[in-house]
Amino acid sequence: MSATLVWFRRDLRLHDNPALRAAVERGRPILPVFVWSPEEEAPWEPGAATKWWLHHSLASLEKDLEQHGSRLIVLRGASREQLARLVREADDDAVYWNRLYDPALRDRDERLKTDLKQSGIDARSFNASLLIEPWQVATKQGKPYQVFTPFWKSWSAAFAPDAAFTPPRRLLAPQRFPQGLPLDELGLLPRIDWAAGFREAWQPGENGAQGQLEAFLDSTLSTYDRDRNRPDLPGSSRLSPFLHFGEISPHRIWRAVQERTEGRALHDASAECFLRELGWREFAHHLLFYFPDTTARPLRPTFLEFPWEQNAKHLHAWRRGQTGYPLVDAGMRELWHTGWMHNRVRMVAASFLTKHLRIDWRAGARSFWDTLVDADLANNTLGWQWTAGCGADAAPYFRIFNPTTQAEKFDASGDYIRRWVPELAELAGRALFAPWEAAPETLRRAGIVLGRNYPRPIVDHDEARQAALAAYESIRS
Ligand code: FAD
Repeated sequence: MSATLVWFRRDLRLHDNPALRAAVERGRPILPVFVWSPEEEAPWEPGAATKWWLHHSLASLEKDLEQHGSRLIVLRGASREQLARLVREADDDAVYWNRLYDPALRDRDERLKTDLKQSGIDARSFNASLLIEPWQVATKQGKPYQVFTPFWKSWSAAFAPDAAFTPPRRLLAPQRFPQGLPLDELGLLPRIDWAAGFREAWQPGENGAQGQLEAFLDSTLSTYDRDRNRPDLPGSSRLSPFLHFGEISPHRIWRAVQERTEGRALHDASAECFLRELGWREFAHHLLFYFPDTTARPLRPTFLEFPWEQNAKHLHAWRRGQTGYPLVDAGMRELWHTGWMHNRVRMVAASFLTKHLRIDWRAGARSFWDTLVDADLANNTLGWQWTAGCGADAAPYFRIFNPTTQAEKFDASGDYIRRWVPELAELAGRALFAPWEAAPETLRRAGIVLGRNYPRPIVDHDEARQAALAAYESIRS
């Protein structure tokens, strides 16, 4: 009997997976396939941190499929050729997958669908990763949204998540599974093992995602609105990498939040605040879909002329967490160690790069791309353009975060900085947030020699601020 090929991409789960659900409903044997073809994502091939995650996520999916009497066929090469070969060999007459919205992948998938259909294959795609697809909402003028609040208001109140789908205990298997590659052969893991911190911090895969969601609902959802800006607390969900790889459906998250709040999610301050953040993820995808050039160009054209600085030394210091500003350094080191950084600190670190150092936001976006386990083209582009002031609904340029007052406000205990910048651990109060202001005796007692075991600030805040405002004035006029 001919089979249905389910092409897994960034929907690495069995529950709430619309392509898998359609294949189950079709009633034929199911052939689950993953094709590793990073060049097709160019110029945004997966970075080192996401490759680490992907390896473990695929391993988890392999196991889950085996528990359902099935297998994941892992292939490498051009998707089109690999799928066409498999369709021929396995006598499949349907190929189902879930949609992605990155510009390069959209083009590829459209071509592939046309080709498959022309060969008489039932090629179909589904929505697995968004609450609302980009084309399902538009302004009154029929245009894409560029401001978040009206975007959110236009659909959230009436939104109803998809019904749950639980896969059957056994997925119908073909008589013979075609030969695939062992996962290790994809070479996704680093050759020199730098991922110990990642392993401590994360459990990639569908089970890990479910555990993360449950833990968040049990212990953090009710205080999310109060604590989400506190990097020293587990104040947010940390679901971003699971969402990026589709190990959990946003519909499932929405349903779970509704259940916990007995259907009052949008009337519960904390739950609403959390769902709005999921809304920002939707907004990011809406923007990427309608403005695909924004991965490389500012949405606001004024910024095309911005006089960015070329300063490899400053860029290097920022990347390594050696700027001399403790909150920025803590964030960049958290990123190196765990592949993740708290949202508030992402904003401060990105603002520091683009405003204090006046380094092009694209250099920052590239750097995050390689180091974040949740590196996501839509969210990363929005985050960087928003912070640099050149994107949709962006922070006004003249609002320049002061990294010292941000630390005083959001890491008041100093625990976050002490954790990630341990050389400053003996300092307290203002001295911890601005060690260059501390009395020599305070530094001496804490064992700190500025410029030796912790850097002096690489730029002066007030001077950098003035220079950034002057640069902005130059493009405004
Ligand atoms: P929560 O606060 O628990 O939010 C729940 C979910 O909502 C997140 O998992 C995420 O999917 C989504 N979300 C939250 N905030 C945003 C936001 N501002 N924009 C879009 N979606 C959001 N997020 C990524 O997923 N990938 C990225 O590559 C990325 N790059 C960023 C770069 C910069 C410069 C900035 C300022 C932000 C970036 N973000 C990115 C957004 C945000 O920082 C992360 O989504 C968030 O920190 C993830 O933590 P969480 O899962 O605990 O979030």
